[in-house]
Amino acid sequence: MKRTHRWIFVLALSVIALQAQDIGDVGGRLMKDSAVQAALRAAEADEPATLDYQVLLSEIPAPLFQEARRAEALKRIFEEIGLQNVRIDEAGNVLGERPGLAPRPHLVFSAHLDTVFPEGTDVKTTRKGSVIAGPGIGDDARGLAVIIGVARALNQARVQTQGSVTFVGTVGEEGLGDLRGVKHLFNAGLKDRIDRFISVDGTGLGITTVGVGSRRYRITYKGPGGHSFGAFGLPSPIHSLGRAISKISDFQVPADPKTTFTVGRIGGGTSVNSIAYEAWMEVDMRSSDVNALSGVDARFRQALDQALAEENARWGGKVNLTLDVAQVGDRPAGRTPADSPIVQAAVSVTRALGHMPNLGEGSTDSNIPMSLGIPAITVGGGGRGSGGHSLSERFDTERSWLGTQRGILLAIALTEK
Ligand SMILES: [Zn+2]
Repeated sequence: MKRTHRWIFVLALSVIALQAQDIGDVGGRLMKDSAVQAALRAAEADEPATLDYQVLLSEIPAPLFQEARRAEALKRIFEEIGLQNVRIDEAGNVLGERPGLAPRPHLVFSAHLDTVFPEGTDVKTTRKGSVIAGPGIGDDARGLAVIIGVARALNQARVQTQGSVTFVGTVGEEGLGDLRGVKHLFNAGLKDRIDRFISVDGTGLGITTVGVGSRRYRITYKGPGGHSFGAFGLPSPIHSLGRAISKISDFQVPADPKTTFTVGRIGGGTSVNSIAYEAWMEVDMRSSDVNALSGVDARFRQALDQALAEENARWGGKVNLTLDVAQVGDRPAGRTPADSPIVQAAVSVTRALGHMPNLGEGSTDSNIPMSLGIPAITVGGGGRGSGGHSLSERFDTERSWLGTQRGILLAIALTEK
């Protein structure tokens, strides 16, 4: 995941608290319950085991589209810790159920299996003092460890939730994975059966309530190509690409909601004295607002067509270039309102653990339920992380059990009617 946070002012927090009358102080209320207290104690006492799971899973390579080995390991762990109906679905997600008094409300409590690191990356971890280092140790081995820790503590303290929880390790969260695991859950595997959704992604105690959407394309202009002198007069895919990039460069986009675009990569041509037969680019556009994203996308497509028409017309239109538009990524934008019960609950339980909650935006598995209007948040797994998506990623375990404890409170609060 990628996430940014902005601090909420104390004033804004008290407004949220006032709007939260229906939920009340769910965090404070749960903290007084003896079974809940037992689960919280279990989470703290068991944190070394939770960290062992984190290291174990982090050291099993799980590049995008190659999550199967880590998935098998998580499946075995889900079985060991007593989850029910443990299985791997058609997409490769790992699921394990913890039934409550009733099937609904049904909470999906998830973390993602995949990493951004390619095959062959050394994913061995090292530990020095309170810090564990290794690629993927925080994003998202920490999330996986937290869902395991939450399930274990709930079982150990014999906490009976009102509704039911399905714990899930998802595939394809990062990059070109395009959220395929979570898409499968909501569009097929658990379609119409998920009432609330949490993704534990990364570290810290932030709460992500805004899902930044993105669209990604690979664009290719093609033509016959030829000698730069002998075939002069032919339209050029590279020139057409240049025309398109020039138009894209001048796009004006809203600052709020933040909307962005970039031509990330370009390529084409074979030699300096040729009219290219092909030129391509890869383009990324993002916004937390559905309409703003669609708007920039529409202008982008228009720019591609205009560039093609202009380049063909420039050379008389006898020989025409072609344009191929391949969409390689589609993450829908969405948001869970700050005054919605799920966000209020997350704010309340975070405060109950003595922390100031901060709300932020990001592009995570929660984008999918958010875009469908299903209550969803992404939360950090506790501890402190640095160097996400880099080989020097680190996780500071100092008081990291707070992440597991908050997960426990969320699991109980969000299965209440
Ligand atoms: Zn992540």
